[in-house]
Order: sequence, then structure tokens, then C-alpha cells
Amino acid sequence: MSSHTLDRFLKENLQDLKERGLYNVIDPLESPNGPVIQIDGKELINLSSNNYLGLATDDRLKKAAIEAINQYGVGAGAVRTINGTLKLHVELEEKIAEFKHTEAAIAYQSGFNCNMAAISAVMDKEDAILSDELNHASIIDGCRLSKAKIIRFQHSDMDDLRKKAKEAKESGQFKKIMVITDGVFSMDGDIAKLPDIVEIAEEFDLITYVDDAHGSGVLGNGAGTVKHFGLSDKIDFQIGTLSKAIGVVGGYVAGKKELIDWLKVRSRPFLFSTALTPADVAACIKAIDILSNSTELQDRLWGNGHYLKKGLKELGFNIGESETPITPCIIGDEVKTQQFSKRLNEEGVYAKAIVFPTVPRGTGRVRNMPTAAHTKEMLDQAIAIYEMVGKELGVIS
Ligand SMILES: *Cc1c(COP(=O)(O)O)cnc(C)c1O
Repeated sequence: MSSHTLDRFLKENLQDLKERGLYNVIDPLESPNGPVIQIDGKELINLSSNNYLGLATDDRLKKAAIEAINQYGVGAGAVRTINGTLKLHVELEEKIAEFKHTEAAIAYQSGFNCNMAAISAVMDKEDAILSDELNHASIIDGCRLSKAKIIRFQHSDMDDLRKKAKEAKESGQFKKIMVITDGVFSMDGDIAKLPDIVEIAEEFDLITYVDDAHGSGVLGNGAGTVKHFGLSDKIDFQIGTLSKAIGVVGGYVAGKKELIDWLKVRSRPFLFSTALTPADVAACIKAIDILSNSTELQDRLWGNGHYLKKGLKELGFNIGESETPITPCIIGDEVKTQQFSKRLNEEGVYAKAIVFPTVPRGTGRVRNMPTAAHTKEMLDQAIAIYEMVGKELGVIS
């Protein structure tokens, strides 16, 4: 028999979410997560993946993964620190370090895991963390896990950061103080003000931590936001994911050799969770090789991003202040946002509604993620469907 208290809790809360239009329904794909996907037997233009460069379905990566399976099998067999470290893992970490222009790097099973791992390996209850209020959920959880005092600053507000950094420093209460930010904010597509953050960090002796999940492979010739600003030697922790532009799965920290040495002995997901599979690692190595040798995919991604933004803006949609290919279409009301996304879907565009608690209440949006793999025809078709649905629901006139 199940617990009545749990039953009641679930029933009430699920009902409540559904009534407020906040309940997310998952649609399983019947195809690869490419520029066109199939759901329920229907083909849709896909504007919802993080597969920025189309690498998730790239033949070169598939081939590398298959070869690695044939050579090493499907699993790493152990955690990294027992005997789950294959030569391939070391090769990947060396490639990442080179790609990010840092001394060393360490790979984890996901970007989420990276934040669980890295923050709490360095910060503890005698420390403080200055955290942008729009930081990703995994950063928030990683900060909580560390037990450091979390001091939120207003989104990309450098006066607020400076004021709070000064207060924290002058209070003399904390052994270490860290500032953490996303490199690119995934819901709005804006870029963190890293040159200012570095300046404030130098003034108040802050440890700097940039989670560049949405910047890696996209900005700085692929090396990310930190490289984009020429700050590779000024940021202590560069976090990246292997699950978005790289197209596979996994995450990493790139930084000084001593930092990486410390994470290898002290970060818990590295010590207590099985290593990335050989196929994942081999595919990631191939992806980084591709990005290191050509900017073709990034160029196509940015071209498509500009094209989609221009098209939606000309129709009168509010596409926010994005500085990257991420293209939000802000509707506001949660229920209307869900309805808009549903109508797009019925007409042949898969663009997900993103609502509270992922974004603040009243800022519901349909978020569009153009990729290098989209053709102009696909984007034209998507824009035409946006126009039709936008007029139908009175979002544009
Ligand atoms: C997506 C994302 C993550 C999680 O990365 P995964 O590899 O998917 O676990 C972490 N941080 C930020 C900022 C992200 O956008």
C-alpha cells in the first residue's frame, strides 16, 4: 500500500500545475534530434534542441562512436579513480584543454554533474558565492551543495555585483569568495559581462567561475565566451558541456593544472560515478577535432540565427535582447505561451514553451534554437507558420 500523505501531495500538486498551465508534457521523438523531427508520425521543423552545430547526428561522430564500441565495449566499467579511466578519456581531456586554451581539463558525465562536482570541491561553509540571479539550476544546486553562503546579485548588474562583493570582502566573514555566472544565459541568449566581472574579481580577490554550456562551440571560434573576450588566463573555472554544441553527452572543467589535479582527488562525481562511455568520449574527441579545424559549422549556425531573428522581428514579435543564436519569442502569459507553442506544433513547428519556474512568472516564451543543420527553406517555412499563428492568437497584428 502506498502512503496516503504522498498520494495526496502528488494529486494536489499535479492538479495545481495543470490548472496554472505549468505542467510540461513530454513528446518522445521517433527520429534523430535533427533539424526536422518526427513525433506521433508527424514531421516537424525542430527549433527546440541544443544541437547547435548538428553534431548529434553527424556521420563522422557516429563512426567514431561505433569504432570505439568495437574497440573498448559499451561501458567504462568503473569510476575514473578506480580503473574506469581509458586512454581515450585522457586524450579527450588534453584536447579540451587545448581547445579552451587552459593548462588542463577534467571531464564529467554531464554539465549538471560538473557543477555538483566543482563548486563543492573548492567552496565550503566558511565561504561565500556571488551568483547571478538567472544562473542555471545546476549552478544553484552546486552552490547549495557546497554549504557556502549564497549571495545573489541582480542579473548582469555590475553595480550590484560590485556592491555585494565589497560588502562580502569587507565583512571579513569569509575565507574565500567566488563569483559564478553562466557565460550565455540560455533563456534570453544574452552574454555575461565577463570583462567587468574579471575587473571586479581582481579588485576584491574573487575566484571566477563561468559555466559556458551555451557559449562553447558557439562563441569565440567555438572555444566559448571566455575566449570571445580574450580572458582565457583570467577565469579560474571554465565549465562546458559536451551535450549541447558538441552534440554528445558530458561536461568538463578547464583551468589551471593544480585546480584540475585537486578536482581529480576531491570532486565526488569523478570519484563515485562511472566514467563516460567509450562511445561518448570518442564522439566528443571527433567533435572537438572538427571544431578545431574549421569554423564552417559555427558560421552556418550564426547565419541561421540572424536569419530567423530578422524574420521574426520583421513580423513584429518580441524577440528580447539575445546576442547569440538563441531566439526567444516572448509571449508573457503562461497559458497563452503554451497555447502558442501548441498551435505552432499543429502547423509543423516544434518550438517549446518555456514558462515559470524555468523563467520568471509572466515572461513565458517560445524559445527557438536554430542550428547549423537547418536550411533556409526550413527557416522560411517556420517563419511563415509563426506569422499565421501569431496573427491568429493576436500576438502580432
Ligand atoms: C545545459 C546546462 C547545463 C547542463 O549540462 P548537461 O550537460 O546537459 O548536463 C549546465 N549549465 C548550464 C548553464 C546549462 O545551460
